[in-house]
Amino acid sequence: MQFPQTNQRFIFDKYSYFERDVDPKQRAWIEVNGKAIEKNVRQLRSKLSKSCQFMAVVKADGYGHDAKVVSDYAIKGGASELGVATLKEGIKLRSSGVNKPILVLGNLYTKKDLIIAFKNNLMPTISSLRECLICNNIGKQFGLKFSLHLKVDTGMSRLGFESDKFIQEFEKIKSFENISIEGIYSHLSSADEDNSLDPKSSTQLQRLKFRELLKQIKVDNDHNIKIHLANSAGMLLDKDFHFHMVRVGLSMYGYSPLAKIDKNLCLKPALFLKVKVAFIRVIDQGVRVSYGGKFVSSRKTKLAVLSIGYADGVPRNLSGKIKVIFKNKLYPQVGSITMDQMMVDITGSDQIKVGSTMVLLGSEGDKTISPIDWARESNTIPWEILCSFKNRLPRVQVD
Ligand SMILES: *Cc1c(COP(=O)(O)O)cnc(C)c1O
Repeated sequence: MQFPQTNQRFIFDKYSYFERDVDPKQRAWIEVNGKAIEKNVRQLRSKLSKSCQFMAVVKADGYGHDAKVVSDYAIKGGASELGVATLKEGIKLRSSGVNKPILVLGNLYTKKDLIIAFKNNLMPTISSLRECLICNNIGKQFGLKFSLHLKVDTGMSRLGFESDKFIQEFEKIKSFENISIEGIYSHLSSADEDNSLDPKSSTQLQRLKFRELLKQIKVDNDHNIKIHLANSAGMLLDKDFHFHMVRVGLSMYGYSPLAKIDKNLCLKPALFLKVKVAFIRVIDQGVRVSYGGKFVSSRKTKLAVLSIGYADGVPRNLSGKIKVIFKNKLYPQVGSITMDQMMVDITGSDQIKVGSTMVLLGSEGDKTISPIDWARESNTIPWEILCSFKNRLPRVQVD
């Protein structure tokens, strides 16, 4: 096929714009308030003893907030370590200039990946003797010590040495000359459940199992090895879970995983999800709205079409269940959420215009909508809501 040979190309060059020339707030975007992260970290740290360290968990691009921005502000707030899930996430942070210790929480099991971790100064999580041996060999190869954290399973049945095996194998691991055991840790499975302070709860049993194991390998007073167990929920539950360090994600972003919220704790959500009104129309009574016509207007209705949909990460099963804020008032979303757009009933509002900004998540005036609200309606957890937001939503830093 041949294109017509006109001066089309010249016109294209003259009028083309680059992607970066498009206003990030042209359609829908996420605003990230770095100062809120900093304040949350500071406040959470005030619940810890002076010697207890704070690891900021910034996996999944900082729970969708932008890992680099979150890391910088968490460090300002006093975080001394960072946690990521993958090798790539760790390398990305390192190459953006973050120089705090970084722990890879996921499992690396090939020599190739472990060498990459070593060369980027990333600490792997080690769950078996086999991986330990690989690390020791890598250390030997470079004439250095490979820093790592050992993980034990105390009831999650995911990563980690089996606890009995760990007790047997620890002496051998300690004798490896080219590894440096920076930490020993475990992970709680159910700390956000209501019964977690009950001595018979699985959370307390995990804690006891972990303590017993540390006693058996005689490292409970060894401050060269950092002992850590708590995620956000564990941290907020009780200081018995703190040990030498806590690994905090959700609460640093401004949301408590616990149903019972500590009244002295005033966490501030760092994420705002905002969208522009792209179109306004008025429909009569009895008119179907969106795919499947699941919503039918019961009166003459003014609709705002918002430029955001499930391809941006708004769960489709929230259709008809959420509200949107504009100037301190809530407006119901109606009809099926589509891939790129959704409709909102703005009947009675004269202020909302094409180009107005509405708030899907965050606060405006005294109205707040949280990922916890969405999670409840969507039958999931706030963690999943936060890390569902796609790259199509530009992240805009505000302070
Ligand atoms: C994600 C994660 C955390 C943080 O959990 P939150 O509940 O978000 O605080 C801590 N530890 C490990 C091993 C994790 O994978």
